[in-house]
Amino acid sequence: MPIDHALKERLTIVQARIGAAAYKAGRDASSIRLVLASKTQPSEAIRAAYQAGARDFGENYVQEAIPKRADLADLTEIRWHLIGHLQTNKAKTAASAFSLIHSVDSVRLAEALARAQPSPRVHALVEVNLGGEASKTGVAPDGVAPILDAARGKIEVDGLMTIPPPGPTAEAARPYFARLRELRDSLATQSGYALSELSMGMTDDFEVAIEEGATIVRIGRAIFGERESKSLKK
Ligand SMILES: *Cc1c(COP(=O)(O)O)cnc(C)c1O
Repeated sequence: MPIDHALKERLTIVQARIGAAAYKAGRDASSIRLVLASKTQPSEAIRAAYQAGARDFGENYVQEAIPKRADLADLTEIRWHLIGHLQTNKAKTAASAFSLIHSVDSVRLAEALARAQPSPRVHALVEVNLGGEASKTGVAPDGVAPILDAARGKIEVDGLMTIPPPGPTAEAARPYFARLRELRDSLATQSGYALSELSMGMTDDFEVAIEEGATIVRIGRAIFGERESKSLKK
């Protein structure tokens, strides 16, 4: 398969912007992981991004990810992330298919992942809803501690994830990113979990997220281009 130069260039630009935002924040760029949000992208686009150097890909739906994973089974260094909502009845499939599940948002789901007991253990983030009514997925901040308790000793909770409500500018998202970091800091003190990962920041606001401490940014459009289906656009 020939190199997709346009895609490689967009990936390089995003990596450079991550580096610049990290530098501005006095952080090491290697502490920030880029996950390519590959929903609606065909397997060939993911293969092209892998050939351009990307390794982490985030899918929104288990049923969309499973066939892509099968198509791309020869890419030995690929890591699959689940960044969309997970239904409890798909927990067992998801537990063995993804390196990191970003969207644990209930005790029931944490228990279902724990029951799945894949080897090695599931790694997960708790998705927090900081926007109240305005954001559709995630658990309210006071719901995180019960999930950590349910997960203890059964699944590895590496940190927190959030999707801020849509705003007019990147700066509008900053208070949500700061709040996720502050919530992490207080939960880490109380719970004994390190919660070192903060998954926050997308095409329109990832630099602000990095300034506020993101360790994982999830980027789709800036690398793959605009998505065809508006209904899947977040
Ligand atoms: C689509 C999506 C992204 C990436 O969004 P872009 O605006 O394309 O960068 C990140 N996180 C989640 C959960 C998504 O669904």
